Amino acid sequence: MPLIVQKYGGTSVGSIDRIKNVAERVVRTAGQGNKVVVVVSAMSGETDKLISLASQLSAAPSEREMDMLLSSGERVTSALTAMAIEALGQKARSFTGRQAGIITDRDHTKAKIERITGNRIRQALDEGYVVVLAGFQGITETEDVTTLGRGGSDLSAVAIASAVNADLCEIYTDVDGVYTTDPNIVPEARKLEKISYEEMLELASLGAKVLQTRSVEFAMKYRVPVVVRSSFNDNPGTLVVEEDKEMENVVVSGIAYDKNQAKMTVVNVPDKPGIAATLFKAIADANIVVDMIVQNISSDGKFADISFTVPKTDTRKALEVTEAIAKELGAERVDKRDDISKISVIGVGMRTHSGVASKMFQTLAANNINIAMISTSEIKVSCVIDQKYTELAARVLHEVFGLAEATH
Ligand code: ADP
Ligand code: ASP
Ligand code: MG
Repeated sequence: MPLIVQKYGGTSVGSIDRIKNVAERVVRTAGQGNKVVVVVSAMSGETDKLISLASQLSAAPSEREMDMLLSSGERVTSALTAMAIEALGQKARSFTGRQAGIITDRDHTKAKIERITGNRIRQALDEGYVVVLAGFQGITETEDVTTLGRGGSDLSAVAIASAVNADLCEIYTDVDGVYTTDPNIVPEARKLEKISYEEMLELASLGAKVLQTRSVEFAMKYRVPVVVRSSFNDNPGTLVVEEDKEMENVVVSGIAYDKNQAKMTVVNVPDKPGIAATLFKAIADANIVVDMIVQNISSDGKFADISFTVPKTDTRKALEVTEAIAKELGAERVDKRDDISKISVIGVGMRTHSGVASKMFQTLAANNINIAMISTSEIKVSCVIDQKYTELAARVLHEVFGLAEATH
């Protein structure tokens, strides 16, 4: 019997009516002769609400307690979804991450899955139940509850699909699939029929939240077949698959933006060997992931400005560490900006086509958008710009790279 994993995101389970809609879809899939594992997110807005409650008690709440708190959102929807399915006459059982045996490391609020035992899930499936798994959560070897980072229910879905050897992992969300860019900011965005794991990974890590980055990494590593679809209609979605020849012919296949970065600049630090090493070691020791780095040397070669970006959620921690090191190194001061955003163009075709970066820079310039930082890889070019120009930049780049026209 085929086994299908279906993940429903926050908007898809955002009200009782929507949970009933999910239950109907699940029962239909089961009725077609499939075993079904459903993975649910918290109701939309719920995780943010819980974070805001905690922030009213402390500027830096314990991460262990945050996980206890945040995992509750998914627990609620898993039980409600199981009830809604049973109300339609189909046997269903909900499970927490712990009951499903999702074992993670101890990195609270962004834990990594180490293994999945999954015994109770297999048993429930064999007994004819639809399994409803609370997404976003796991448990450490010593039984502390963990969560898997924002958007982590995608990872729960892909990981459980791999553990139970599912035939397909369907990610149901509030848009019809993966688009050339966020359809909610560029109406001309076009739905892709398929996208390679690698391009999807870039899109996700550069800000397209339609799939969580780590879920794509996991799917790519374990070759989990994923399709992204809408829970509000029956349109075919986007398949995330291995790269094929056709894809290489497309130079740019998508545009992503990320408003969740902050930029730090260490101003006028004496330019001598070891400065960057000292600074970035301290930041890495604080468990902060640095993205872009730019260093400018003054014309007399005596001083340097070092700028870098960090996730906005780590701004406070990053500023503390950077200010301490800046003082030690004899720098003048540290500047912080969080009104920035990163805009990126992505495509595996860039490996074999040139000129993408210059076209991107020219287009931004023609629209009076200043570039503060640049980084490139084989298959992407990213620029840091003023946040207020994000939507404009996405629109003009979408246009200039011809993304609205069907290519594959
Ligand atoms: P869910 O709650 O179902 O997990 P998310 O809000 O996490 O949904 O992700 C879906 C959203 O991702 C869409 O509503 C859309 O605004 C955004 N998005 C950003 N980039 C893209 C893209 N390239 N294709 C589709 N959606 C995108
Ligand atoms: N509820 C969590 C979040 O909002 C996980 C998820 O929705 O995937 O980040
Ligand atoms: Mg999501």
